Order: sequence, then C-alpha cells, then structure tokens
Amino acid sequence: MNCLLIWHNALTCRRDHGPVYVNLTVLMGMFPMRIGQRLFDFVGTLPLAVGLAYFVCAAAALYVTGGSDGVATVWPASGVSIAGLLLAPPRQRGAVYLAIAAGSLAANLLAGLGLYYTLAFTAANVAEATIGYLCIRHINRDSETVYNPLSVVEFCLAALLTGTLSGAIATAFTGGGLGLMFLSWATTVSLGIMIVVPLALNISVNYAGLRSILQANWLLPLLILLLVGAITYTVFNQTTFPLLFLPLMAVIVATYLVGPNGALASILIIAVIGSHKTLQHSGPIHLMREHDPIGATLFLQFYLFALLLSSLPLAALLNARDRVITQVSRANRWLAMSEHIAHVGHWRLDLAREEVFWSDEVFRIHGLSPGAPPPLDGAIGFYHPDDRDKVRQYLAALVETYEPFEFEARLITAAGIERYVRSLGEVERNTKGEPIGLFGIFQDVTERTLATQRLAAAHKRAEEQADYAMILAQTDSLTGIANRRNAIGVLGSELEKAHDQHSALSVAILDIDHFKSINDNFGHAAGDAVIRQVAQLCQGMIRTSDLAGRIGGEEFVLILPGSDADSARIVGERLRLAIENAQWPEDGPEHVTASIGLATLGTAQSAEQFLAEADAALYRAKREGRNRLRVAA
Ligand code: GH3
Ligand code: MG
Ligand code: MG
Repeated sequence: MNCLLIWHNALTCRRDHGPVYVNLTVLMGMFPMRIGQRLFDFVGTLPLAVGLAYFVCAAAALYVTGGSDGVATVWPASGVSIAGLLLAPPRQRGAVYLAIAAGSLAANLLAGLGLYYTLAFTAANVAEATIGYLCIRHINRDSETVYNPLSVVEFCLAALLTGTLSGAIATAFTGGGLGLMFLSWATTVSLGIMIVVPLALNISVNYAGLRSILQANWLLPLLILLLVGAITYTVFNQTTFPLLFLPLMAVIVATYLVGPNGALASILIIAVIGSHKTLQHSGPIHLMREHDPIGATLFLQFYLFALLLSSLPLAALLNARDRVITQVSRANRWLAMSEHIAHVGHWRLDLAREEVFWSDEVFRIHGLSPGAPPPLDGAIGFYHPDDRDKVRQYLAALVETYEPFEFEARLITAAGIERYVRSLGEVERNTKGEPIGLFGIFQDVTERTLATQRLAAAHKRAEEQADYAMILAQTDSLTGIANRRNAIGVLGSELEKAHDQHSALSVAILDIDHFKSINDNFGHAAGDAVIRQVAQLCQGMIRTSDLAGRIGGEEFVLILPGSDADSARIVGERLRLAIENAQWPEDGPEHVTASIGLATLGTAQSAEQFLAEADAALYRAKREGRNRLRVAA
C-alpha cells in the first residue's frame, strides 16, 4: 500500500494542454528542504517522482507479491512508467526513461536478482514502457482519461499487447521458451498497466495539487476501500470456502459508489492482499489448485483480469453518465442564469397530459417562488382583467390553428404590482411531426414598455408646447386674433394662390377714428377694451376662410379670399355699421367709429404693395370725414 500512497501523492499533477505541473509538497517533505529543491531543479520534478515511485512499486511488488521465479503477481511499476511517459512533456521524456531504468535497476538489485537478470529485466522494463507509451498515448488525448467505453476497449487491448511484447522480450533476454515465464510476465505487466495507468492519469487530470486532494471528500472512498480490504482479507485468509465472488461484489459496489478510481483502487487492494496470501498458501484458490503454487498465481492473475474486465466497462459507462449529467446540469444552470439576466422565462403545455411547465424565471416574473405552476385558468388569472380575453383568444387560436403567436399584455404579480409581459408561443412537434405540446417564452418588458410610454408622453408634451409656441408667435396677445406677421404671411400666400388660380381676393384695413382721444379721456385700459371689442367684431363678421388680424395699435386687417370688390364692400360696410352701433363698456366711450380702406386684387405683386393700396383708400376715408369705407382706385 505504501507504493500506492507515494505514487498517488507524487503524481497529483495537472495536465492541461501545456506542460505538467507536479505538486511536490509531499515529496519535498522526504528530503531536507534545500537539497531536495536543488535536486528537483536539476533533474526535473516529474522524472524524480517517476523514478522514486517506480523503485518503491517494483521493490514492494517483489517483496509482497514476488514469486519464486522472481516475477511478481502484479507489477504496478509498468503502469508507473507508462503513466510517467504519458504525463511528461517532450523535453522531460529522456529524463523519465533514465528514472525508470534507475528505479528498475535498484529494485531488482535490492531483490537480489544478480547483475545479468537485473540488466535483462531492466532492459525489458524500459522496452515495455516504450511499447506501452506508444500504444496508449493516443488514447489519453485532450485531457480525457481513458474512462469512456471505446477508450476502455482500446486501452485494455493496448495493455494486453504491451504485456505480451514485454513478456516476449523478457523471455528472450532470459533465454526461456514461450512457457510459464512468458505467461506470468505478460499477465503481470498487463495487470499493472490496466490498474495503475488509468488511476494515475485520472488523479493527475482531476486533482490540481495537494490542497484539492485534501479538500476532496475522502471519507466515503476510504470507508469503501477499507471494506474491500476487509472482505478481501477475510476471503483470502481462509482456505475452506470458495468465496471469490465476494471481492467481485465489493468491486462492483466500489465502482458504483466511488466511480472508476474506486474500481481500480479496489482491484489493486485485492491484487496486493490476494497475491500475498495466495503465495502464503492461503485463500480459496488453493481449493482448486492444491499443491500448485504457479497455477494458483496464474489463476489469481486471471481472476484479477476478470475483475478488471467486468468493472472497467461499468466504470466507463458510469463515468460517461456522470459527464453527461454534469454537462446537462451545467447547461441548465447557464440557461437559468441567461433567463434571469434577460428576464425571459420559458413555459410548456403538454397537450396529452395537459400539464403546464414554468421555468424559474416565469415564476419570478409572476412574483412567485419556483414550485408547481398553477393550472391554465389560474395562470390566465394573473393577467390584467382587461387583457385576459385577449390572452385566452391567442391560446385558443394556437391550439386550433397551430399558428405561432406573439402578444404583449399586463400582468398583476402575486404582490399586486403591474408588469408588462411579452409572450411568444408555438407548437412543439415530435419527430413524426405530430403536435405534442405548446412551447413559448415569457419576457418581462416592463422597463422597456414604461420607457416607451414615458418617451411617447414626453414627445406629445413637446409637440403641444411647440404648437402653443407657434400659436403664441402668430397671435396678438391683446386680442387673441392673428398678429401682424401672421396676417402678412397669410396675405402673401393668399395673393400667390389668387394669382395662380385667377380667383378674387380683397383686403381691408380698418383704423379706429380719434383713438388718441379715447385713450386721453378714458385711460389706456379703456382704450384696450375698445381694441379687444373691435377685434371681436372683425372676427364675427368674416367666414372661416377669411382672416382678421391686428396690424398696429388700433389698426386691423381683413383678408377675404374669393371676395371681389362688391362682396368685400358689403362685409366692410357691415363691420363699419356694427362698430358704429355697438354698445361699449360703461367706463369707456359711448360712441366709436372706424374708417376702412378696401383694395381688391389687381396688379399688386406683394402683400406690402396690396396693403399699401388699401392703406391709401383708408387715408382717403379719413380725409373725407372718417366713419366711412373707401375702395382703392
Ligand atoms: P385718426 O382718427 O386719425 O386715426 O386719429 P387717431 O387718434 O386714432 O390717431 P392715430 O391712429 O395716429 O393714433 C393711434 C393711437 O393709438 C396712438 C397710441 O397712443 C394709441 N395706441 C397704440 N397702440 C395702443 C394700444 O395697444 N392700446 C391703447 N390703449 N392705445 C394704443
Ligand atoms: Mg392709427
Ligand atoms: Mg386711428
């Protein structure tokens, strides 16, 4: 177990797409700090870790599980060497080879194998590491472990091939035939690769440093592995009952509860305890192979193969399932976050079961906590009473015609707050094209709608203010009728129109007689009142197509499109008489008259020229005694 622990700690490295980073906190603890640091800097951390782990695994395997032929039952060092090569960046691969050779030499010498066998086995070990690396390296791509179903098959075949070739090389070196030595070596190596490589790679990929290992939840795996150890020890510590099925069940339980690493660690435990006990002539294998130690060892090896081949595919499937579950839950989490950020939820109505589904965001928009969605009627009840019929109609149309819909409506949340929502829906069909549900999205557009409404209100206000400013600019403030600029503008355009259409146009200028004396006798306010009343009389005397304007202190203009001299004279006379006969406020004059100058369109080309003609007629009316109308010559 020691070798496993050191190996495990030493290779807690992360293998992204770049170089390998080995966390050496544990290994550093074994050396006086400064010497250790220098050594690592000089050789590189990974090769040192591989060499050390190789030596410990090899020595421990020979000591714990070594047979009389010098070949161990399980050879985890093969797995160590191949995993080391797989994890090493190209520039460190040579150093890793040296470390493997050094570890192998030291372990074999320590086991007392003699120089020739030590060198031969070391050469075989290095060759085997190369073959294994070449066979397996393409499987461990893109930071993936070997735990997917296809890779497991590839990986097992590669491990068997490596074991076979390695066995052939070792047998050739030692001069043996294709007999027991070859079989023993090949199975030993294959087992070591199958157990250790995935374990080491998986740990190195999944755990970034010692801290993540310490933070991981170790309690359940530890308990399971202790249980596996206890069961295995019980089974192999007796030779009375054929209980080999019990460790198999323990491995399956470990696979389910701890995953691929649990499966492999369990098999490693069974290999260590099983081979140690079997070599001590204990365990159920001796029930079948009595007085046949080599046969018992081979049986154990094939038993371990059987454990691997039954648990690895299961582990691969479980791993694939876990990965899919992780991806799906991550996708769901991201979908929920997207919905929350965008204030968009989704809903679904199952047509067969009439079941409604709401995403969490739909609940939030309704002011509810996520849970069971209300029935359809309850959901419609959340809409503003004025909008419910509209919503029902859209849904009914979707069910009947399967035409997609889109509408905006008001919603009253559970807290009684009014929100604006946009809803889009369409039919969901199965692969045969049959409708199976209604699916849609539900968006909170309150902010946007309120902003649009605020913008529209501001726009309307601005238009009203502009209209008011325009009216102010065109209106005489004292009388409320058109001011001079407005009146002259209208006269100019009417003049153009009359010229173009050869239609009649008349203009009259009215001036209050002796107005100065009204001001003098009754005050300025009374004068203003007279001006206002005359303006009203002007306004009351004309058609809607005509225009009355104030063009000076007590001077007014009447623009009469379509009126010739005769009809204009009638209007003017009627106005003059109306002023003459009007009732005036008590604090003002009793009697007011006005003079009127009238011009009818002849040759005048501009408003000013036309007005000058009317003004000349007015001057004549004044001169000839006032309170009369004169027409321009
Ligand atoms: P005539 O009969 O020749 O028109 O004599 P008149 O006194 O009306 O003379 P004139 O048209 O020259 O006088 C206009 C007077 O109107 C001068 C000014 O004091 C007065 N006036 C001008 N604008 C206003 C106003 O807005 N309010 C008042 N109360 N008086 C004004
Ligand atoms: Mg005047
Ligand atoms: Mg006057």
